[in-house]
Amino acid sequence: LDTLSVHYPLGRRLFGKPPVLKAIDKVSLDIPRGSFFGLVGESGSGKTTLGRAILRAAPISEGRVQFNDGEVDHNLAELKGDALKDYRKRAQLIFQDPYAALSPRMTVRDIIAEPLEVMGLTKSRADTDERVREIAAKCRLNLEHLRRFPHAFSGGQRQRISIARALVTGPKFVVADESVAALDVSIQADILNLLKSLQRDLDLTFLFISHDLSVVAHVCDQVAVMYLGNIVEIGPTRELFARPKHPYTKALLSAIPSLDPDDTGRAQRLEGEVPSPADPPPGCRFHTRCPVAQARCSQDAPHLLAADAPGTRVACHFWQDNMAEAETVG
Ligand code: SF4
Repeated sequence: LDTLSVHYPLGRRLFGKPPVLKAIDKVSLDIPRGSFFGLVGESGSGKTTLGRAILRAAPISEGRVQFNDGEVDHNLAELKGDALKDYRKRAQLIFQDPYAALSPRMTVRDIIAEPLEVMGLTKSRADTDERVREIAAKCRLNLEHLRRFPHAFSGGQRQRISIARALVTGPKFVVADESVAALDVSIQADILNLLKSLQRDLDLTFLFISHDLSVVAHVCDQVAVMYLGNIVEIGPTRELFARPKHPYTKALLSAIPSLDPDDTGRAQRLEGEVPSPADPPPGCRFHTRCPVAQARCSQDAPHLLAADAPGTRVACHFWQDNMAEAETVG
């Protein structure tokens, strides 16, 4: 992604430019092939819109999204016709809510087969059945399951049906948007392990969108943190969780309950709501909530720049000062 923006016009204005909602604003990001890439942030941060824009399901206002899965290399903003159809086969979405995503009137076989039929990817019913059975088995669904309707299944089983439906076209890139959020914790681990094994077996790249940092820590190799349409920190998961640099990342991590009764050092609690993307604060967008903001922060927007560990980048004017101070206190 190179300076990707998704802006939605908000009505009309008689004089001057019409107001716009900047859901995503100039985001640059590299999701390596074969990675399990986490995207985190509070509700309203823009993470779902970013996932949708990469799938061409949200309008790209400006910037470039380069997709290269080793076979095709596209600038997504320019795709249309057959090339766009081919891309939709290669990039798929796993929905959040396994209860709402599946039609109650279709059998599991038909639900999984539908994308193949809509995209015209099979030659015959026998061919469709074979592909459905193949992906169903990989998602731990058997022939008996395929004959039934969704209401007969638990949340975890329904999510396995959603995953099979998303993977039946043979994508190489998958956006999993809060894909375990609606499930019990015990079932979450089962689905996460399934996604990891599918990633290895099918050579997939995942963009894993979640508000739950403990889940992200469990499965992702790298993480990007979003706030109000911008990426504020990126890094390898281990580094980001061990040494968060941005005050927003620190605040998100401090919200994870600690099992250590002596752990009193994670004090940067986050106050207030995310401001509206229709009227984002000037300068650093986080300055209205940042516990260590300084005068400069309300005027100058920080850029996402390389930090002190390989693969890490952070958008904060004062991250080094804050890290040095935390290390002195610690
Ligand atoms: Fe906080 Fe300023 Fe850094 Fe923004 S630039 S995160 S307001 S210290």
